[in-house]
Amino acid sequence: MNTIILAGGGHAHLAGIADGSLRHFPHTEIILISPSRYQYYSGMFSGFTEGIYSENQIRIDLEALSKKHGFTFVEDKITGIDADGKSVLISSGRTFTYDLLSFDIGSSQIRSPFILPIKPNYTFPEAIRSFREGERPVIVGGGASGVELSLAASAYRKHNSLMRPVSLISGVHLLSSAHSQKLHEVCEHKGVNVIQNKKARLLDSGVLVIGDDQIPFSHLLWLGGAEAPSLFKQSSLATDANGYLQVDERLRYSPSIFAAGDCVSINRYPQLPKNGVYAVRQSTVLWENLKRAAEKRDLVPFRPQKQFLAILSTGGKEGFLTYGRIHYHGKTAWTIKHAIDRRYMNSF
Ligand SMILES: Cc1cc2nc3c(=O)[nH]c(=O)nc-3n(C[C@H](O)[C@H](O)[C@H](O)COP(=O)(O)OP(=O)(O)OC[C@H]3O[C@@H](n4cnc5c(N)ncnc54)[C@H](O)[C@@H]3O)c2cc1C
Repeated sequence: MNTIILAGGGHAHLAGIADGSLRHFPHTEIILISPSRYQYYSGMFSGFTEGIYSENQIRIDLEALSKKHGFTFVEDKITGIDADGKSVLISSGRTFTYDLLSFDIGSSQIRSPFILPIKPNYTFPEAIRSFREGERPVIVGGGASGVELSLAASAYRKHNSLMRPVSLISGVHLLSSAHSQKLHEVCEHKGVNVIQNKKARLLDSGVLVIGDDQIPFSHLLWLGGAEAPSLFKQSSLATDANGYLQVDERLRYSPSIFAAGDCVSINRYPQLPKNGVYAVRQSTVLWENLKRAAEKRDLVPFRPQKQFLAILSTGGKEGFLTYGRIHYHGKTAWTIKHAIDRRYMNSF
């Protein structure tokens, strides 16, 4: 019997399991290794922050999923890879050998005692519960996650009569897209204190500065870009300059190692944004190629779409929808997002 190890309960692995991909591996032992029993869905982080969704509504129970689909779940973290010996080591000291290994372990974040940890994603609820109640909450990073969480935390605070605003510091225009100006207006209208086009630095002493000015904070989220997981470099696997596992467009690192989601750099698309949308899109190709690799057949390439529908929750059950250069802000956008997110979670 062959063994496939799924490293990490990320989007690309789980979307394939939900789609019924495991039926293509009848004589194979599938082992999913992930450090928490629960995988949290970042598409609903803003709704959780605001108080719309409960913790149970935003997480997938990997233990229950393993029983439903007939695979083995190991709640632990992979700490080493022996690519020549085809085995992985987990933090308890156990090793697992594999015929095929697939990584979907996501990205990491800057570590500092002054920054609230939200990655891996099971750390998010605890961090956000204290952040949204904070005396002076500050978010650094004006990308989609920073904008969404600042608006969600603002909505929560308004609801709970916490009067001091959330500050959002962005080194560039918000989202750095054609919609920056409109989104800036939405943020200001909803009470977020936006500081744009200013680079914030966190000094070793824990002081946050912009130039010579000190920015006081009680709780700090740093959403200024993902960091590569350290696992690949530590295990001497080939990475790009930033430490992401280098795969080809077939999501293949080597004949027995595949990977998808935030943790990879695809050599043909090095600038591909790291988000859940692409991780889910890669799922189909990843699972197809795992099947083909097991059957020793030719692999298929991943072709990223150029544009996709994006909806940011802006608080109070309103959403900011973009598609290419089109944008719309209002209740309908949130209703569409809510329906998409619920459908995704119900698929498990
Ligand atoms: C606040 C916030 C909001 C966001 N909102 C959106 C959004 O609305 N839409 C969107 O498309 N993207 C969004 N993103 C980005 C999105 O969360 C990530 O791009 C996406 O989760 C990446 O999916 P993934 O499958 O690569 O990894 P993840 O979803 O991060 O999953 C990785 C899994 O691997 C596990 N793991 C980690 N290390 C190991 C290890 N060593 N061994 C075993 N398992 C391991 C983790 O515990 C986790 O279960 C948001 C991000 C943040 C921070």
